[in-house]
Amino acid sequence: MPLYVYEAKNSAQACDKCREGFEISQSLKDDKLTRCPDCGNEIYRVIQAPGLTHSKTDLHYRAKRAGFKCLKKVEKGEYEKIY
Ligand SMILES: [Zn+2]
Repeated sequence: MPLYVYEAKNSAQACDKCREGFEISQSLKDDKLTRCPDCGNEIYRVIQAPGLTHSKTDLHYRAKRAGFKCLKKVEKGEYEKIY
């Protein structure tokens, strides 16, 4: 089954699972997820570029290239803006 990556639309309200994006394998017949199964916040499907690995490092790399800001978790509840 294909592996999809979902990320929270609003990272401020997201849980640890969807804030940084999570992977889920779904059948092509399945509907897209619209809400995080853990916290219920709205999520969107991240389009995977072919040939790239699906690691979180890669998510950050592509987010940076796309100009998104990224917050690095320093401690529980504390974040450092890294770009
Ligand atoms: Zn969540």
